[in-house]
Amino acid sequence: MSRRAIITGIAAGSVLPFVSSCTTNPETGRSQFLLMGDAEVASMATAAWSDMKSQTPQTSNSALRNRVLNVWNRTAKGAKRDHEQWDVAVFDTDDVNAFVMPGNRVGVYRGITELTENDDQLSSVLGHEAGHVTGRHAAERMSVQMAASAGMMAGQIAVASSEELSKYGSAIGALGGAAVQFGVVLPYSRNHELEADRLGVDYMHNAGYDVRQSVRLWELMDAQSKGQRPAEFMSTHPDPTRRAEELRQYINARGYAMM
Ligand SMILES: [Zn+2]
Repeated sequence: MSRRAIITGIAAGSVLPFVSSCTTNPETGRSQFLLMGDAEVASMATAAWSDMKSQTPQTSNSALRNRVLNVWNRTAKGAKRDHEQWDVAVFDTDDVNAFVMPGNRVGVYRGITELTENDDQLSSVLGHEAGHVTGRHAAERMSVQMAASAGMMAGQIAVASSEELSKYGSAIGALGGAAVQFGVVLPYSRNHELEADRLGVDYMHNAGYDVRQSVRLWELMDAQSKGQRPAEFMSTHPDPTRRAEELRQYINARGYAMM
């Protein structure tokens, strides 16, 4: 079903049976409101991804590229997603940022690789991005936006919408023009960020990385945010000290480490 058909359908009420049945995500066990499948979201991101790759230079540093690919592959294996096709781009800019686009597209900027002190911290960034994929956050966010734009603001959808939509406003400018234009890498909500953090730590653990380094990464982010040039990652991933603390508690609760 096309996006237009879904919006028209929602407006006309013909998609209501679809809406009333939520999907349970096998990765998280969480019930999700989804109006579209992964394939449709992926196709909506195709143009944005190729624009991004044509407009932003990719690194010619093969050592850096290999480092990112190796950490990505190992982390993706921890997420049991290594059998899938992934397009990983390492952009040659100072931006302290990384993102994932629907359709298994991963963007990592040189700047964030330079912030990390070791591969464990890089795995923490990449595991977090993988968590957005397995958590199906893009489809969930776009479904909520669609429902909201079609005027369906009742019941649980209204709750989800206000939670999801209220987070986007100020952070959108931090992202690339093409991506924003297509609306596929808008910032995620706080709940999505925390879920991606937890999933990322699970994948780090499965992959044999030192999960404690995820806490250290957020401390580095926090320090950077107080400097002259705040990390772009911060604008879409707020509250570093609180997230470090929540990660520490999660790591202890899961028994991955004591810290
Ligand atoms: Zn995130």
